[in-house]
Amino acid sequence: MIHIIGAGLAGLAAAERLSRSHRAVTIHEATAQAGGRCRSYYDQATGMVIDNGTHLLLSGNRAALAFTEAIGSRSGLRGPDEAQFAFIDIASGEQWTLRFGDSRFPWWVFDKDRRVPQTGVVDYLPLARLAWAQTDKPIGEIMNCGGPIYDRFVGPLLLAALNIAPPEGSAKLAGAVVRETLALGGQACRPLLAYEGLGSVFVEPAITHLRGRGVVFAFEDELVELLFGNGRVSRMTFAKQTINLGENDAIILAVPPYVATNFVPDLVAPSSFRGIVNAHFRIDPPAHLPPMLGVINGTCEWIFPLPNRISATISDGGRLFDIPRAELAQIIWNDIAKVAGLSRDLPPWQIVRERRATFTATPEQNARRPAAETSWQNLFLAGDWTQTGLPATIEGAVRSGYRAADLVSHRLKAAA
Ligand SMILES: Cc1cc2nc3c(=O)[nH]c(=O)nc-3n(C[C@H](O)[C@H](O)[C@H](O)COP(=O)(O)OP(=O)(O)OC[C@H]3O[C@@H](n4cnc5c(N)ncnc54)[C@H](O)[C@@H]3O)c2cc1C
Repeated sequence: MIHIIGAGLAGLAAAERLSRSHRAVTIHEATAQAGGRCRSYYDQATGMVIDNGTHLLLSGNRAALAFTEAIGSRSGLRGPDEAQFAFIDIASGEQWTLRFGDSRFPWWVFDKDRRVPQTGVVDYLPLARLAWAQTDKPIGEIMNCGGPIYDRFVGPLLLAALNIAPPEGSAKLAGAVVRETLALGGQACRPLLAYEGLGSVFVEPAITHLRGRGVVFAFEDELVELLFGNGRVSRMTFAKQTINLGENDAIILAVPPYVATNFVPDLVAPSSFRGIVNAHFRIDPPAHLPPMLGVINGTCEWIFPLPNRISATISDGGRLFDIPRAELAQIIWNDIAKVAGLSRDLPPWQIVRERRATFTATPEQNARRPAAETSWQNLFLAGDWTQTGLPATIEGAVRSGYRAADLVSHRLKAAA
C-alpha cells in the first residue's frame, strides 16, 4: 500500500501517476476537503462558490495540463486563443496589450507593435541573462528592476510568478519561468483560467477519476506522528488511527513544509512564507473587460472578469493583512470600478487572505528545498516547496507529485 499524506495538488498528482500502474493507494487528508491551497468553496457573504484565489496557468505548464488531461478536465481551463496580456496604468489611464502570437519562438520581441510600448529589442536582453543565470542571486543583482519593460511587463509577471517583490526574488526561479514560458514564444504563454472554479477543474474530477481507479480517500485523517526504525518509517499515527508499515508499504508526504518538519527529523525546508490577497465581487462583469487585466500603479495587480463576478489578486500582499476587511474591499473595488467604469458602491464581496500562500522565493529559501528522496527508504516528499526548480505553483506541485510517485514505483519494483 502507498500512503499519500495530503490531498493538495501534489498528493492528487502522485495518486494519479500511481493509479496508472494500479498500485493500491490511500490518500489521508487532514481536512474534510481536497485541494489544499487550490480550492473552491461556498461563500455565504457573496452567495457564490468562490476560489481561495484565482489561479493563473500558462499553456507552457505541461505537467499541470497533463494532469487535467488525465483526470478529464482539461477543457475547463480556458483563455484567449492567442497569448495576450492587457494592462492599464491606473494613474495615467494608459492601456496596452502585449500579443505574443502563436509561434514557438519569441518573435514578438522583434515586432514593435507587439512589444511593450517604449521598448526596443535590446531591452529584452536582461531576460536572457535571467534565463541562463548560473548562480542563484536576487533578481535585482542580475537585472535592472526599473524602466518601461520592467515596470510594464517583467515586474508584474515576476511578481505574480514568484509572489515576492522581484528585486529580492530568486534569479534561478525567475529564470526557470522565463525558460519555460516567455522563451518558448506565444505557444507557451497563453493564459488559462478555471472559469467555473478550481474545484471543478483540479479537485472534483481528480477525486472521481481516482476513486474510479480504486484510490481510497480518508478525509479528516490528520497525521500526527511518524515513527522511524531500521532506516524506514515503521508506523504512522493519525488523529483517529495507527498504521504499521510493512515491507511493501511506502509514504509520500505531501503536506506543507511547516507540517513536514514536525514529522521528519532534521528536515531542512523553506521556513518563511508570503501571503496573497484575493477579492471577489458579485457582479456581472462588463463585456468590454479583457479576460484578465494587469493593473499598474494600483492596489489591485490583476483583475479577472469571471462568471457573475469580478475577482482581483494581489501577490506578496502581507502589507494588506492588517487593513480591516471592509476597508480593504473598498480600496480594491475602487480600482476595479475605475478601470471597468462601474459605480464605487460596493457589490457583495469577500476577501480571502492566505498568509502562507507560498514559500518566500528568495535565493536563501530556494536553497532550503529538499529533494523528494529522504534518508528513509520508504519515505518520499512532494509539494510545491520541494526541489522542483520552479516557484511555488500548480505546475511545481504536480511535477513534485509525479516525481515522488515515480521514485516510489521504482523503489518498490527494485525491492520486489
Ligand atoms: C491565494 C493563492 C493563489 C495562488 N495562485 C496561483 C496561481 O495563480 N498559479 C499557480 O500555479 N499557483 C498558484 N498558487 C500556488 C498553488 O496553489 C500551490 O502551489 C499548490 O496548490 C500547492 O499544492 P501542494 O499540494 O504542494 O500543497 P497544499 O495545497 O498546501 O496541500 C497540502 C495538503 O496537506 C494537507 N495536510 C496538512 N497537514 C496534514 C496532516 N498532518 N495530515 C494530513 N494532511 C495534511 C493540507 O490540508 C493540504 O490539503 C496560489 C496559492 C494561493 C494560496
